[in-house]
Amino acid sequence: MPTTPARPKLVVLDRDGVINQDSPDFVKSPDEWIPLPGALEAIARINQAGYRVVVATNQSGLGRGLFDAATLNAIHAKLRASLAKHGGAIDAIFVCPHAPDEGCDCRKPLPGLYREIARRFEADLHGVPSVGDSARDLEAAAAAGCTPWLVLTGNGPKTLAKGQLPAGTVVWNDLGEVADALEAAAQAEEH
Ligand SMILES: [Mg+2]
Ligand SMILES: [Zn+2]
Repeated sequence: MPTTPARPKLVVLDRDGVINQDSPDFVKSPDEWIPLPGALEAIARINQAGYRVVVATNQSGLGRGLFDAATLNAIHAKLRASLAKHGGAIDAIFVCPHAPDEGCDCRKPLPGLYREIARRFEADLHGVPSVGDSARDLEAAAAAGCTPWLVLTGNGPKTLAKGQLPAGTVVWNDLGEVADALEAAAQAEEH
């Protein structure tokens, strides 16, 4: 049962390419935020299996001046409202707002956002599943002690083809399969 998550029942998700369509031109407005098929239903199922869901996302478009914080808040309000229609909820969204040249410690692949998550939730992240579509998501997750889960949406196919994934990376087709795995793990825990 290698995919059984350790307590706490927490799951970390990347945003672009995992929950919603990614764009090479950045997701700069609520209109450009388009959920992937089945992703919101999957988050609701993950919640129903007893997991809190948090998002950890690089949003360098802020640091690059492509959109402002109010716009990012509006994008996330759309995310939360769309998710609520499916009965799901995200506990918190952790954002790196910095451009790559700002030298911060929260832009993935660095694990700063994960340290913040651990602090905020007073949680040991060891074994917590962290779902992403890019190598930097998996590297940040592994550096923080999470279990890296790669989904083959967004950049996922390219990431898989490139290889050199962190040790212990688990691969799923999409967030729906992630929900299946977490439901199975939660059921196994009950027995
Ligand atoms: Mg991504
Ligand atoms: Zn940062």
